[in-house]
Amino acid sequence: MLKVVKFGGSSLADADQFRKVADIVKSESSRRYVVASAPGKRNSRDEKVTDLLLQTYKLAKDKKDIDEIFERICERYRDIIKGLGLDYSLEDEFANIKMAILHRAGRNYVASRGEYLNSRILAKFLGFTFVDAEDCVFFDEKGELDAEKTNAEIKNILSVCEYAVIPGFYGINTEGSIRTFSRGGSDITGSLVAAAVGADIYENWTDVSGMLMADPRIVDSPLPIPEITYRELRELSYMGASVLHEDAVFPVRKAGIPINIRNTNSPADPGTMIVSKAGTSIVDTVITGVAGKKGITAIHVEKDMMNSEVGFGRRVLEVLENHGVAFEHLPSGIDTMSVLVTSKAIEECKGAITAEMVKTVNPDSITLVENLALIAVVGRGMVNTEGTAARVFTALAKEKINIRMIDQGSSEINIIVAVEEKEYEKTINTIYREFVK
Ligand code: ASP
Repeated sequence: MLKVVKFGGSSLADADQFRKVADIVKSESSRRYVVASAPGKRNSRDEKVTDLLLQTYKLAKDKKDIDEIFERICERYRDIIKGLGLDYSLEDEFANIKMAILHRAGRNYVASRGEYLNSRILAKFLGFTFVDAEDCVFFDEKGELDAEKTNAEIKNILSVCEYAVIPGFYGINTEGSIRTFSRGGSDITGSLVAAAVGADIYENWTDVSGMLMADPRIVDSPLPIPEITYRELRELSYMGASVLHEDAVFPVRKAGIPINIRNTNSPADPGTMIVSKAGTSIVDTVITGVAGKKGITAIHVEKDMMNSEVGFGRRVLEVLENHGVAFEHLPSGIDTMSVLVTSKAIEECKGAITAEMVKTVNPDSITLVENLALIAVVGRGMVNTEGTAARVFTALAKEKINIRMIDQGSSEINIIVAVEEKEYEKTINTIYREFVK
C-alpha cells in the first residue's frame, strides 16, 4: 500500500497542527509522500501566509516598506519551529527571500515561498527528505503544466526516495522561473505526485470531515457523503460545493486513484471517498447531495414552428458567443428555447444581446427572467430508483415553491430546477429533508 498525503493550510497553521499531521503520517508507514501547503489561518481573523507574501510583493512593487509584514511571516515560521522544539533555523532563507522581494522578484516566486518554507520545516520534523517542487513540477512556454515531463521527473526522483515532503502549489517554467498554480493549487501537486508514483490512494487532509450532502450554512447539520463518484463531484462542484481544487481531479482520475478527503482535526472520521466507480455501498438516501447557485438569468426565446427552422438554436447561441458569454443550461420546448446564463456574464450587454437576437432570429417574443437560482439534486442512486423526480417536485409543491424550469441531464445523475432566488434556501432545505429524514 502506498499513500500520497496532502495537508492544507489549516492543517499546518501552527506547531499544534504540525504535531497532528506528524501523528497522522507516522501512524501508517504507507504514508510516504507528503505534499504541504503554506501555513493557513489559525482563527477566523488570522491571515494566510500566502496572502501576507502577496502583500509584500505588492508593497515592494509600490516601493513601500515590507519590513512589518515580512517580519510577521518570519514570526509564523519561528513560532512553528520553536513550538516543535526543533533545532533548526530558516534565518538565512528569510534573508534571501527578503532580498529577492526587495529586488523585485516575480509575484509567483514570492507567493510560492509559503509552501517552500513550510515544507522545509515539515521535512525536518518528520525526518523525511525535502524534494523541491521546482525540480519536478514543470510548466511549458505557455505557462501550462507540462504533465508528461512532470510525471516522469516526480517518478524518477521519488524512485530513490522512500519518504519525502514536497511543497505544493508551484513548479518551474521553461525560463527557469518559479510558477504557481492558481490559488488552492497544492491540491493539484498532491494529485500529480499520487499519479506519478502510482499511489493506491490520494489522501487530501483538510479541516472538514469530507464533503457534506448540502451546504451547512443553509441546511442544519447535513450528513457527510461517504462515497461520491467523480461525475457526481463535478456536478456538485459546478454548483459551488467544493472541497478540492477543480484541476486536482484530473491526474488521479486518469490514473484510477481514489481521493479520500480527511479531517486533520478528527482523523478517526473516514471522510469522503471520491472514486471512479462507486463500490457496493448502498446509497440509502437515493441522492448523494444537493447544491445550487444564485445569480442566474433565463433568456426565453419563443417562435412558432421553431422546431423546424434549421439553425435557429445556433443563431441564438452565436449572439451569446459574439459577446463572449457562455451558457450554463439550455432547456427547450417545442416552440421555446431558454438559455440560462449567469447574470454577471450579461450584466453589461443584455440590451445588446436581446436586440441582436431579435434581429437574427426574428422571434415572436424574447423575455429575460432575472434573479433565478439553480438547484441540482445529484445522485447516482437516482438512475435505479423510480419516482425521484416526482418526489422532488411534490415536496416543492407542498411548500408552495414555484419551479420555473426543470432540466434533467441525459446522464440521469442529476435533476436541475430553477426557482426564484428568494426561494433558494427553502428549496435546498425542502429537497434535503425529503431525502434525508
Ligand atoms: N497556499 C496557496 C493558497 O493559499 C496554495 C494552497 O494552499 O493550496 O492558495
